[in-house]
Amino acid sequence: MSAQARRHFVCTLDDILDGAGVAALVDGEQVALVRVGEEVFALENRDPFSGANVMARGLAGDLQGQLVVSSPVYKQHFNLRSGRCLEDEAVGLRTWPCGVLDGRVWVESVPQVAAGARGRRRLVVIGNGMAAMRTVEELLNEAPDVYDITIFGAEPRGNYNRILLSPLLAGETGRESIVLHPLQWYSERGITLHVGDSVVSIDRRQKRVISAAGIVAGYDRLLLATGSEPVRLKVKGHDLPGVFYFRNLDDVDGMQLQAADARRAVVIGGGLLGLEAASGLRKLGLDVTIVHIRDRVMDKQLDAEAAGYLRASMESRGIAFRLAARTEAITGEGRVQMVRLDDGSALAADMVVVAAGITPRTELARSCGLHCDRGILVDDTLQTYDPAIYAVGECVQHRGATYGLVAPLWEQARVCAAHLAERGVSRYRGSSPASQLKVSGIELFSAGEHGKAGAAESIRYADRAAGVYKRLWVKDNRLQAAILFGDTRNSGWYAELIENQRDVSALREALLLGEPPAAESAA
Ligand SMILES: Cc1cc2nc3c(=O)[nH]c(=O)nc-3n(C[C@H](O)[C@H](O)[C@H](O)COP(=O)(O)OP(=O)(O)OC[C@H]3O[C@@H](n4cnc5c(N)ncnc54)[C@H](O)[C@@H]3O)c2cc1C
Repeated sequence: MSAQARRHFVCTLDDILDGAGVAALVDGEQVALVRVGEEVFALENRDPFSGANVMARGLAGDLQGQLVVSSPVYKQHFNLRSGRCLEDEAVGLRTWPCGVLDGRVWVESVPQVAAGARGRRRLVVIGNGMAAMRTVEELLNEAPDVYDITIFGAEPRGNYNRILLSPLLAGETGRESIVLHPLQWYSERGITLHVGDSVVSIDRRQKRVISAAGIVAGYDRLLLATGSEPVRLKVKGHDLPGVFYFRNLDDVDGMQLQAADARRAVVIGGGLLGLEAASGLRKLGLDVTIVHIRDRVMDKQLDAEAAGYLRASMESRGIAFRLAARTEAITGEGRVQMVRLDDGSALAADMVVVAAGITPRTELARSCGLHCDRGILVDDTLQTYDPAIYAVGECVQHRGATYGLVAPLWEQARVCAAHLAERGVSRYRGSSPASQLKVSGIELFSAGEHGKAGAAESIRYADRAAGVYKRLWVKDNRLQAAILFGDTRNSGWYAELIENQRDVSALREALLLGEPPAAESAA
């Protein structure tokens, strides 16, 4: 209690109905005392929108994880702890410290300092996925008191590990183990989270965002982390029931439900996601065929030989392939029954999973005039063309590159958080992609861009009987790219050599054997 504040006992807890309020006069001020369960909150009784002293007559309860009271006049909601209006964050009610002692409700005579007046700035985050939350975590570590944080997430849940959707589909892990930030995590840190609510517009002049549910949130800094969306098939029948994409938890729920009654699945796309989806569905007992437009699987990450090893390994698990094949149409009476290919053949299917690539979600950024190309354009500090707006994750394009893996996003998050905390000297200079397939029993690693290695020399080892294949690309004594199949023990070391562009001339002869023991490498 501050020096001047005095406690007033105003009524008993039983005088206030649960979910309702009473008005009290505290040192000449009308205060609304609102009860939720055994807790009581004290706020200004005057509704700022109507000017009437009516807040004590509002209904109180839980709204998307926040305790709120609604104005009986125009129905705006106010957070009971902060007093902040959910529909317009520029507006707030003053709050008073209060509590219950021996069944009696007390209120302090001096209101709390309002959130906006604490000198904290407002950070609004659009997107509640992996890049957004890594940035928020880094920011809280770096500067916990700089911002009042509000997050909007289109998905109706807290943040989870999207990477683990593949093992989740295959039944190799449970829903609980993929949760990264449960709802409680946000509330414990005073973060306002709006789940299941997309931001639909950004007003850059007034520095505020508006959500689909009509919530208006003002910002001093805005972080865009809207991720990617799956590339949609543009063929007849693409929207038939039984056609799925593989991006979020709802997609996995839908696939698992459908798989329970299905026998045959067609996966369109032979990239990393398509292979993982196929493997998951196979584990659920379905006959699975992968249709891929190119003549080899994972054509972006693998050379032809490694792709051959991978294909053989997937076939031995009962997965069939139609390579160099284009989907012409999906057909069926009211639901998926057939996938027709461009060579005139058709595959019977009870479900179809489309994994034909991703595209950065830029529509919101474009609509408010931010410069976008394939992704939202950012500089080395992850700042967009508007200095108040930053962007991280799969939605961004940095130095011409977009990314579809998490490692680059972690680097972006670290740099972006440092700049949001205004302690930023670091720069993001781009990342070198490294992928690993998550199909149990298959060891596969690919790093660097072998397709762009140009005049690089390549060193190769292949043992078909043992199912081991390794190939490295070296240029000017620097490792450019690596593919490992069947034995990925040295993947971390190769990734590091590629990332740091270390001179490997001394290691060259034994480079394929992997990292030398510490004594030797030091010599
Ligand atoms: C099945 C699967 C397996 C994967 N496996 C791997 C792997 O093994 N290794 C690897 O490195 N990467 C993997 N990835 C990729 C990795 O998951 C992504 O790189 C990462 O999740 C991208 O993070 P992000 O925050 O940019 O986007 P997301 O995680 O997609 O988050 C963006 C969020 O923003 C929300 N959003 C969008 N627009 C709005 C809006 N207007 N208002 C509010 N919210 C909005 C979206 O709903 C979404 O929840 C995999 C991806 C999938 C789908």
